[in-house]
Amino acid sequence: MGNIGLSAHSFPKVFGQESSPDTRRAVFTQPRSTADRYARPMPAEETTPQLFPNRFADAVGPGGGERSRDVCRCVGHSTRTRPARVTFHGERQDTGAAGWQHLLALVDEAAADGRPVFRPFVEMSAPERRQVVTLPPTIAKLTAVKHLVLYGTNLVRIPPEIGNMTSLERFEPYTSHRLHWYPYELTRCTGITDSTVSTRALYGNFKFRPPFPALRPVTRAGEADLGALDPAVWGTEAVRTCSVCAGPVDHELHQVWISRPVGTDVLPLLVNACSTACLAALPEPHSGYVPTPHTGGPAVVQPASRW
Ligand SMILES: [Zn+2]
Ligand SMILES: [Zn+2]
Repeated sequence: MGNIGLSAHSFPKVFGQESSPDTRRAVFTQPRSTADRYARPMPAEETTPQLFPNRFADAVGPGGGERSRDVCRCVGHSTRTRPARVTFHGERQDTGAAGWQHLLALVDEAAADGRPVFRPFVEMSAPERRQVVTLPPTIAKLTAVKHLVLYGTNLVRIPPEIGNMTSLERFEPYTSHRLHWYPYELTRCTGITDSTVSTRALYGNFKFRPPFPALRPVTRAGEADLGALDPAVWGTEAVRTCSVCAGPVDHELHQVWISRPVGTDVLPLLVNACSTACLAALPEPHSGYVPTPHTGGPAVVQPASRW
């Protein structure tokens, strides 16, 4: 790829370390994006994906003419329309909503019968689907699920408990356009070989490099109740365990972004770490992305867009 417009002084020095020249050289060894598999060639970067491949024809629940999700334009859709800065979705889950209660029941049902394919939103009405902005922590019980279908949902975040779904082989949040990031715990699902993610919805995606939300590098326990956080600021309503060591986060919280492969995609992953030692234990980011873990915000310099 040659010069990708990076300067030696433009990298975030997250841990007070300069990255090596080798890690600075961005090479697009992008795993084949499965979202692209279904996409027609995009004639212009302004094109917003509006693709409804047959593969997912049975992945959406009944419509009934009512809205099943909300539209967001957080990341733009091109280098021209991407914003200078972004913030997390601040929506909180209404746990009294019928859709949430239905989803809880569906998770329990799937956990009880040990089904290998879980497509909960197919069984929910459009208004119910619209009411669900995250998945419940009880998904940790879905240890037999190999194939998780989250097609066209209204989700804005996925909880770290997805890391307990250790049988996962196929992960399909395709066209859930409000999912701009994933929890680092998803990398615990090491059996995922196939993923289908809408690349253009992702923070830092290689197509047009929208920014990442700015993170607070350190939040001490006295500064915020880690069990009752503002999702608009921290991306989540609570942090209890470390994304890296799985130990408790009760003293201080260190948040960083890292882009890593999951299945056939490279995803922006949010790390909630208990210590600087756990941050230091993170692997290298995928080549072609910001070469060190970073705290986001408009100052982070990313490799050039592909288009
Ligand atoms: Zn959004
Ligand atoms: Zn830790």
